Amino acid sequence: MSDKPRVLIVGGGYGGATVARRLGDAVDVTLISHDNFLLSTPMLAEVAAGYLDPRHIVTPLRDLCPHATVIQGRVDAVDVDAVSVTVEGPFGAGNRTFSGDVLVVALGAVPADFGIEGVAEHAIDFKTISDALAIRNQVLAALEGTAVSDDPRLTRTVVVGAGYSGAELAAALSDFVHEAAETYFGSSVVPEVILVDAVDRVTPALSERLSAAAAAQLAERRVEMRLGKKVASVDAGGLTLEDGGRIDASTVVWAAGVRPNPLIETLGLPTERGRLVTDGRMKVSDTVFALGDVAAVPDGSGAVSPPTAQFAVRQGRYLGDNLPKILMGETVPRFRYRTLGELVSLGHHNAVGRVLRVPVSGLPAWFLWRTYYLLQVPSLFRRARIAFDWTLDVIFPPDIAWIPTSSERLRP
Ligand SMILES: Cc1cc2nc3c(=O)[nH]c(=O)nc-3n(C[C@H](O)[C@H](O)[C@H](O)COP(=O)(O)OP(=O)(O)OC[C@H]3O[C@@H](n4cnc5c(N)ncnc54)[C@H](O)[C@@H]3O)c2cc1C
Repeated sequence: MSDKPRVLIVGGGYGGATVARRLGDAVDVTLISHDNFLLSTPMLAEVAAGYLDPRHIVTPLRDLCPHATVIQGRVDAVDVDAVSVTVEGPFGAGNRTFSGDVLVVALGAVPADFGIEGVAEHAIDFKTISDALAIRNQVLAALEGTAVSDDPRLTRTVVVGAGYSGAELAAALSDFVHEAAETYFGSSVVPEVILVDAVDRVTPALSERLSAAAAAQLAERRVEMRLGKKVASVDAGGLTLEDGGRIDASTVVWAAGVRPNPLIETLGLPTERGRLVTDGRMKVSDTVFALGDVAAVPDGSGAVSPPTAQFAVRQGRYLGDNLPKILMGETVPRFRYRTLGELVSLGHHNAVGRVLRVPVSGLPAWFLWRTYYLLQVPSLFRRARIAFDWTLDVIFPPDIAWIPTSSERLRP
């Protein structure tokens, strides 16, 4: 058995996978994650709209972190005193407990439904690769349904949540359904994509000017915006607004927000808005470190790091480089990072945002978005495949093949 410190990392997303990769073989690393891949979430909207192949935006953890012992499974319980976790393996493989000298918590966030009736049962979340595939399938199945029914719901898709991910999804879906309808379904099929939010502007994290630019671009993409409207409930036929308004739709996507992984509440450690409180070196206690969406990590300028991939990756690099030194008792500088900016991709050849505090929009912003996020994909092989998908998308009409999962199969 190795005498290196044993580091147990839970969560193989941007934070956890980056720490594991960066630690290399300096310590003995076990990386436990529900999925056996790192998902490039900024590209999820393009998978939902069928422009990217789902396999191209995921990178297997075994490939990414060759020095780590990778365990695919669901962490069911965490014992912070014993520095151990209980994991349920895939395919009923059974449970096993893993222990280490230090635990790194990087379990990410989960969708938040704010207790709104019917969201869990009738809306599709927008967080995982299966969510993206489910959205694409449902929207396509509804379009196919127009051949046998005049039900107006079939052509209507609602995205709830006009933050970055909801706005990106609405724009990408709108491009997709309009192109698909025009190419394959005839002029009688007129799709509608409706973006709903309780806040009265889109992408509210951006300045008012950029938010207005984003709204103009969404309108150009034929996205209808219902802003300043709170959702009261979701049902099988659409949703009802708090003001009594009703939107009948075949598909409701819930992109209205996330909250820290609920497992965090079971750890018995201090939290701030559900995120683990860490010091400037991501330390929660003597044996627990945390980063990413589950952790309130000081950003070095007096604020708490926002829950973004940009920060999770930077934190992952910091912890991967410094954890071995911290474990040796060395003093290392605190984590410090200032955002490079924000970019929201809004359909074909459009984006808005700020880069190094300079506002950008339109084609240059879209080009920057694609270049930045392509370079963030940690596999050359997958970068090449994504670039190829994007090229084919310019040349060919949208791919409307409906690829059902076993539960979606039409009955014989
Ligand atoms: C659609 C979408 C678009 C986004 N776009 C952007 C963007 O453009 N720019 C940006 O900066 N950020 C973006 N984000 C936010 C970004 O994805 C997150 O901030 C980032 O992923 C956080 O990294 P993390 O490591 O904390 O969590 P994650 O990357 O979510 O990783 C958490 C990991 O933990 C695993 N896990 C969870 N529970 C368990 C369990 N019980 N057992 C085992 N494993 C578990 C998960 O499977 C996952 O692998 C987007 C998010 C979404 C959903």
